[in-house]
Amino acid sequence: MRQVTTLTELGDGVYAWLQPGGESGVSNAGVVVDDDGITVIDTLMVRSQWEPFAAAVEALDVPIKRTVLTHAHVDHVGGTKAFPKAAIYASQQTSDALDLAMRLDAYKAFMPAFEEEFDDLDELGTRPVTHLITGAASLTPRVEVLPAEGHTAGDVIVLVADADVCFAGDLCFFGVTPLAFQGDPALWADMLDAVVELADTIVPGHGPIGSETEARALQSYLRHCVAAADGGPPIPAGPWDSWLERERDAINIERVELLARGDDVIPPAMLKAIGFA
Ligand SMILES: [Zn+2]
Repeated sequence: MRQVTTLTELGDGVYAWLQPGGESGVSNAGVVVDDDGITVIDTLMVRSQWEPFAAAVEALDVPIKRTVLTHAHVDHVGGTKAFPKAAIYASQQTSDALDLAMRLDAYKAFMPAFEEEFDDLDELGTRPVTHLITGAASLTPRVEVLPAEGHTAGDVIVLVADADVCFAGDLCFFGVTPLAFQGDPALWADMLDAVVELADTIVPGHGPIGSETEARALQSYLRHCVAAADGGPPIPAGPWDSWLERERDAINIERVELLARGDDVIPPAMLKAIGFA
């Protein structure tokens, strides 16, 4: 039976939309209510995901003013048209990516569970970014945006300090192996030192809500990837033994090796996973 997702209230007017599992294509989103209206954080991927999310947000009966996109990956930006009147805030990198055509074949090969829905998404398309995030800024009295990097070059974190909640986007994967095919695992691990200082409650891009404990496990995993790529030991036993998608180890380690050689390219293991090798 299909699980029914609902808005989880994390504080007064602060909600997470948590899709169970958190594997490829199954991401989380967030909602923050200010006096002037709602800020939506990320928009999920395909219609069967964002339609119920948008309906739940509309049911709050407050104008939907803004969308913040944490990065450009399709499982976070696919639902931008579900919020047609919202201003869209994102990094320059996300804006550039949304201006390009969708890589439909790659999406279908990498996320076959959604193959049929990608045709619908391709037809529908996404909305362009309307407001660039170029530095740390307060979008509203409650919503602060913080540029970051590590998962991609254009990551954005959303902080709601009064509720002690941070929406980390894909800088956090909890219970799911992180995916660094466009990231920098060493930089990403360092960035998590800052993330854990932001708030006690962390909403990850994939997986259940967590806190410093889960973020530190992710940091440790990423550092093991860096060590393994550097000729060190393979990734030892650890909390990641129970994580989904461990086939990503190869992608993450290859990415470190490539970056060490100055090659900012997609790792061969990822190209294979998207059907290009
Ligand atoms: Zn991502």
